[in-house]
Amino acid sequence: MLIPEPVNSICPQIPDNAPFAPSQRQWINGYLAGLFSGRSQSATAETPRPSLGPIFFLWGTQTGGAEGLAKKFAKDAKIRGFEATALGLDASSPADLASQSRTCIITSTYGDGDMPDNAQSYWDALNSDAAPNLENFSFSVLSLGDRNYTQFCKAGILFDERLAALGAKRIQPRVDCDVDEEALGHQWFADLMKTLAPDSTAASAADAEETEVVTYSKNNPFQAVLKSNLRLTGDDSAKETRHFEIVLEGSGLDYEVGDALGVVPSNCPDIVAEILTATGLAGDEPVQLKDGSTTALRQALVNRLDLSSFNSALPASGISAQDLVSPLRSLQHRLYSISSSPKAHPGEVHLTVGIVRYELDGRTCKGVCSTFLAERADGGVPVFIHKSPGFRLPADTTRPVIMVGPGTGIAPFRAFLEERRATAPDSKNWLFFGDQHVATDFLYRDELETLFNEGVLTHLDTAFSRDQSEKIYVQNRMLENAARLWEWLGNGAHIYVCGDAKRMAKDVDAALLQIVREQGGLATEAAQAFINQLKSEKRYQRDVY
Ligand code: NAP
Repeated sequence: MLIPEPVNSICPQIPDNAPFAPSQRQWINGYLAGLFSGRSQSATAETPRPSLGPIFFLWGTQTGGAEGLAKKFAKDAKIRGFEATALGLDASSPADLASQSRTCIITSTYGDGDMPDNAQSYWDALNSDAAPNLENFSFSVLSLGDRNYTQFCKAGILFDERLAALGAKRIQPRVDCDVDEEALGHQWFADLMKTLAPDSTAASAADAEETEVVTYSKNNPFQAVLKSNLRLTGDDSAKETRHFEIVLEGSGLDYEVGDALGVVPSNCPDIVAEILTATGLAGDEPVQLKDGSTTALRQALVNRLDLSSFNSALPASGISAQDLVSPLRSLQHRLYSISSSPKAHPGEVHLTVGIVRYELDGRTCKGVCSTFLAERADGGVPVFIHKSPGFRLPADTTRPVIMVGPGTGIAPFRAFLEERRATAPDSKNWLFFGDQHVATDFLYRDELETLFNEGVLTHLDTAFSRDQSEKIYVQNRMLENAARLWEWLGNGAHIYVCGDAKRMAKDVDAALLQIVREQGGLATEAAQAFINQLKSEKRYQRDVY
């Protein structure tokens, strides 16, 4: 039945001469009335507000945090009446700033004060002599970082200073957020809206929030069941690397290979007991936390606060409960690259985690989340899925894939290989794996050899760094195989790196540059441009910490 589109406020009725019985006519007219009233209501609700003009939120991200914020802020700004756009810095360039006269940059920093991968090319262009004059341009920067690193928020600071040096005007000062200062980021956005559109109300944005589907997150994790907890490294290994299998059934959570699992840990009760003994506090004293909530001291120490500052010195006796907790940071969730494919393990998620334990001043210190998983997760693991859209297998399954993942950096590549076995068994896949000793540290050796024998792994190159007098690392294996690696890149291969950001990822990057230079017969600048092009085509992706 063709229902006429209402053109005015009069409800349409079917014509008198239409061939319907009275009861049918009554039903259809009632249906039209209902439909029409719904349409006119939604038409009213969707009436656009007067435009407050364009605003851009450009994100630089390594793990998706800045991207999530940029998209959320753009959505909120749109509801308030702005023509808001959220874009990755790799999807834009400083040349676009001419048409983006009001732009906010939201960026994280990773490694040793480095730009996130998707921000590097943009930054290089902005920082070059060819950068445009930005006198008619206004901006603000929200910078995300971690105060445990010396170069806190460095990427955001660089953007902020460079944009100002090019003549752009700050809409409001840059805000630098530590990992537990998420509220500061939201305040930055609220202040921005207040400055740009003092009359726009947050009410409409809040209404829209309410209609969003509630999902599991760091503040509302799913209580999953730990099904399996196995040591992967041999007893004689210097490392304790474990494989965890976590059941997601009943959560509705799903994930893609490349995603990470957020785990919300609690502290070891032994350290909490030590703190209470050292201070002489009972544990039931009420304390106020940074978010304004009040809770018993013991509960705060177990579940809410980062106790790592007590690794080097315990608090003194006589301190009040409030003075004990006030300087402490919030306990943070941890993200782990998922090491399973949902196609191979439906309803489960697997992790590959190095357990952190070390001696400091005669005391054993424990990594909070890794030892939570290894020792204290039998009662349940609070988890959520962290999407990693920047770390994905090629959509075209015929593309060859090169993976470089020493140590626990193997995690996402076990997942990739399981996925490729399920979706593209004839594809070409090449893994570079390295660790200290073949006898004790060849993680997932049996599985990898089976994948190799099945032909899913076309090449498996290993570098065991401490089995001979000189160190051999994954990048040495890459250089030994330079001609073949160059040929794979020529055939459209995607290359992925996962693991240590500070040393390994930088050295692997340098090895790749050398291979492109030597095999391609290119000068350094041209080779670098080739690698930047791989990045912008999402053919060089990294998951590095
Ligand atoms: P690791 O410390 O990275 O060691 C693995 C191998 O890499 C060892 O043979 C090591 O050799 C070698 N290596 C050391 N320096 C290197 C360099 N400059 N270039 C290339 N190889 C180098 O392994 P891990 O203990 O498993 O730690 C992995 C790192 O990745 C951690 O920083 C972790 O936070 C991170 N990560 C973890 C996950 C996860 O989901 N679990 C995911 C991604 C990243 P030597 O020790 O003999 O020098």
